[in-house]
Formats: sequence, C-alpha cells, structure tokens
Amino acid sequence: MKKRGHGIALFSGGLDSALAILLLLRQDIEVTALSFMNHFGCDLSDRSSCGHDPYPVADKFGFTVKMVHLADKFVQIVKDPKYGHGKNMNPCIDCRILMLREAKQFMEIVGADFVFTGEVVGQRPMSQRKPQLNIVARDADLKGKLLRPLSAKLLPPTEVELSGLVDRDRLEAISGRSRKRQIELAEKYGLEDYPNPAAGCLLTDQSYSNRLRDFLAHNEHLSFDDLNLMRVGRHFRLDRETVVIVGRNEEENNKIERYRNKTDWLFEAIGTGSPVTLLKGPLNDSTIKATAEITARYCRKRDDGQIEISYYQTEDQLQTIMVAPAVETELVKVRL
Ligand code: SF4
Repeated sequence: MKKRGHGIALFSGGLDSALAILLLLRQDIEVTALSFMNHFGCDLSDRSSCGHDPYPVADKFGFTVKMVHLADKFVQIVKDPKYGHGKNMNPCIDCRILMLREAKQFMEIVGADFVFTGEVVGQRPMSQRKPQLNIVARDADLKGKLLRPLSAKLLPPTEVELSGLVDRDRLEAISGRSRKRQIELAEKYGLEDYPNPAAGCLLTDQSYSNRLRDFLAHNEHLSFDDLNLMRVGRHFRLDRETVVIVGRNEEENNKIERYRNKTDWLFEAIGTGSPVTLLKGPLNDSTIKATAEITARYCRKRDDGQIEISYYQTEDQLQTIMVAPAVETELVKVRL
C-alpha cells in the first residue's frame, strides 16, 4: 500500500530515535532509518558503543535500517571541528551535521521527502539547545526539511508539516532531560527493552580523549591502527617521539600485536606472566630501559628485584635486558 510520504531517520537504536520513528509510522509514513558508526565507539560490535543494536526494534515495528560508516570523514571533524569540541574530544555539533548531510544525500538518492531525528530541545548541553538545532539544520542544508517529531510543537513548522504531509498536531512538545513523556509513549506503543541514555561515544571519555589529544599534538597522520591502539592498554609518553602501550589482559595483548606497525618494538618478561608492551618510537638505551622497566612493573611476579625483559621486532632478533620494575611515582609523570 502506498504510504503518505517517506522519511529518513537518524537512528541510534535508543529510546528517543525509536519513538520519533514510531510517531511517524503511526502517521502512515514510510521510514528508512540510518544507523551511523564511527571509529570512536559508536560501533555495534563494541560494548563501549554509544549505539545500540537497531535491528530488533526495526523488525518489531516494520521499518528498514541501513548501516552507514562515517570512516575518514568523521576522523576529519574530530581533528578539526568547525564548532569545537565538547568537554572532551567530542565534536557533537559537527558530528550531527555530518550525519545529517549523509542522510540528506540518501534522501535525495532514494527520492524521500524529509529527514528526521529523535532530538529533544534542551536535552543535551552541546548539541540540542535551540540555537544549535538551527545551526545544525542550516549547515546540513536541510532547513525546512528536518523534522524533530519529539519537540516539533516547540519549533517552527517544517515544510512537511506546512504541506500537511505530516500532521503537526500528532507530534510532541517534549523538552529537557526528563524522560517522563518518552516513557509514557514507550508504554503506549509497546516499545520495550529500550536502553538507558548513553553517555556518548569514546570521545566523551576523558582518558581516551587525553590519549587522542596527545597523539594529535605529536603526529600529523592518524591511521585506523593508531585509533584502535588508543582503545587498549595503559599509555605512557616517554618523550616527544615515544609512546609505550602496556596490555592489561590477554585480549589487549593480542590487539597490541595485531595493530602494531612493523617499526614498533615488543617487550615481554621472560619466565613470568607478562603483559605485551609496545614501544612506538626510536629504540635507544634510554627508551629500551624505560620500556623494560614499565613492562617489569606490570609483570605478575615482580618482587625479585631484577627481571629479565626481552624485546624484538621479529622473534629471530630477540634481545634481553635486566631491569628493576618502574616505581609508581615515576610512572605518574609519564602516564597518559
Ligand atoms: S557523543 Fe557526540 S561526537 Fe560522539 S557520536 Fe554522539 S554526537 Fe557524535
């Protein structure tokens, strides 16, 4: 059966974006939902994600989901956001503009009528205040075509409301951080098992942001392996050119080995439970000693005074050094 119109949703899998979709499905609008991923945790394969699996709710209520990876475009806005970073390295306003631009392009390709989101006026400090909502719509070149069904009655009518394609009276006037009205609507529509509001992607995490900021201050090029390494282990900056990364468990040790460059050096203790430690930077007497001491610090047995640490790029060129574990007061100075 032909629907009244076709809307493209930004869909995180969370409560607000799901409700925005349900409001429009109930107005007989066809919905295609775009779920975005990036390299900073909004990745459904990762438990630290701020995104949620979008498929169960799509199956239940009958709309289509398409996954879109923002890849390098997202990395660019993290490095140099037009509207700056939030409290940490999160460029939320630029991020929303980017997602909306992608949605606009998709809307034009499939011949849909408008784009909509689950944004709620005043819910998030950086990206969901009224002036920011206007900036986002303007910069995404979606003025008049961007509907926020949960707060629509608090905002100027969009083209699709003015034309009667969407009935404004059946949209909502929600604002602020309380989720009371959303929970009422979820019960009314039979939306169950919705996740708690997420804090955001990894870029809202202080310690991850510290590592990223440090990396960008010391390197021009940022590869995906670099980004993946930032997610694992303990990180220490020894000098302008040298970073040491220590695995905290077997999973992290494996990731460190997987994401390292050929020019990086691996350090491990011999004969005791040892982390895998990565030295990224020049190998010299000072970096060998410091990296070996850090490795020794995180070994299972480290009460013997001196510990033998091996280091290598390939196993046939393995060398060793005896060191005492680094002391905490020294580590604090170099920890990222
Ligand atoms: S927290 Fe901000 S930067 Fe991260 S995905 Fe969400 S909107 Fe984008």
